[in-house]
Amino acid sequence: MARPAAARVDLDALRHNYALAQSCTPGSCNLAVVKANAYGHGALAVARALEPLAPALGVACLEEAISLRDGGIEVPILLLEGPFEADEVVEAARLNCWMMLDNAAQLQWLADASLAEPIHVWLKIDSGMHRLGLPPLQAGAAYQQLVECENVASILMATHFAAADELDNGRTAEQIALFEHACEGIPVGRSMANSAGILGWPEASGDWNRPGIMLYGASPFSEPHPEADKLRSVMELASKVISLRHIPAGESVGYGGRWRAERESVIATIAIGYGDGYPRHAPDGTPVIVQGQRASLAGRVSMDMITVDVTDLHNVRQGSEVVLWGAELPVNEIATHAGTIGYELLTRMPDRTPRIYSGAG
Ligand SMILES: *Cc1c(COP(=O)(O)O)cnc(C)c1O
Repeated sequence: MARPAAARVDLDALRHNYALAQSCTPGSCNLAVVKANAYGHGALAVARALEPLAPALGVACLEEAISLRDGGIEVPILLLEGPFEADEVVEAARLNCWMMLDNAAQLQWLADASLAEPIHVWLKIDSGMHRLGLPPLQAGAAYQQLVECENVASILMATHFAAADELDNGRTAEQIALFEHACEGIPVGRSMANSAGILGWPEASGDWNRPGIMLYGASPFSEPHPEADKLRSVMELASKVISLRHIPAGESVGYGGRWRAERESVIATIAIGYGDGYPRHAPDGTPVIVQGQRASLAGRVSMDMITVDVTDLHNVRQGSEVVLWGAELPVNEIATHAGTIGYELLTRMPDRTPRIYSGAG
């Protein structure tokens, strides 16, 4: 038997989630964000599954776009952070990439490039995130510079939210107002919303939106939400029990003996560890589904294995199925136990963990 650790990726759920983004934003185009290896799900497989639905894809850098083109993906690909160096502009244009432009140097690189065809650009305005984007007061002048640039085919105005996942946080409304004000009189399309914007802020829906995490079935919110609760989990991280043992009360389990048995206990050892993307910071008590039943992590996470207290479970044996996260156990729940967010657990999924795809991809 091969090592059973694997990430099962449900491409039907992925497409369901894309359709949900569409239904939340009637009349908008939704660019599917597939950066960071499609949040760990495998960029090429995800892009192939979404290509018939999504009018464009979004990635973080040219290298990610190149590997999609090498894999035969043909839809336009937006470089969400634009070029990092002047010489990327020509290559991006050659590959039918669109570019986010967020600073004056990038505008200059585009102006100086010699392109066969003008390209589509998104002009990013800093409406309060204070990470990337031009100051709102420069929006008009930068737009005008692009209008006059012979390398520009069309322009879209964009911004990014800092706190759209907090539905009671007034900053999102402020950002929307500031962005709209900065763009007043600029006769082109707008893009503001990430997943949290799409699901939670209907007024943020623009000509284009940029769903990322929601496509993969993880809610951007920490609370239940009527739209986010319709998402379907795309990745199931699964493995099997590879060993079972009875230990007497008082014995400890795993490295450093962090977990100690308060009673006679049954410990299942499972072939998954931090080398497979399971978070090493997961504390004792983190839920694990063994043979369809919830159990608790007992002892430190090792590179290739975890240990789970299955004393109260039925029918657990060597070979029993284990789910670390998936439809019945949201990745965000595991992330909360481990002091992080679902985004990080998904994007950190290493190459070692095989991705097994299902659904008509
Ligand atoms: C990553 C990214 C997104 C997607 O964000 P989610 O929270 O995953 O939906 C949208 N826009 C930009 C500019 C990004 O970098």
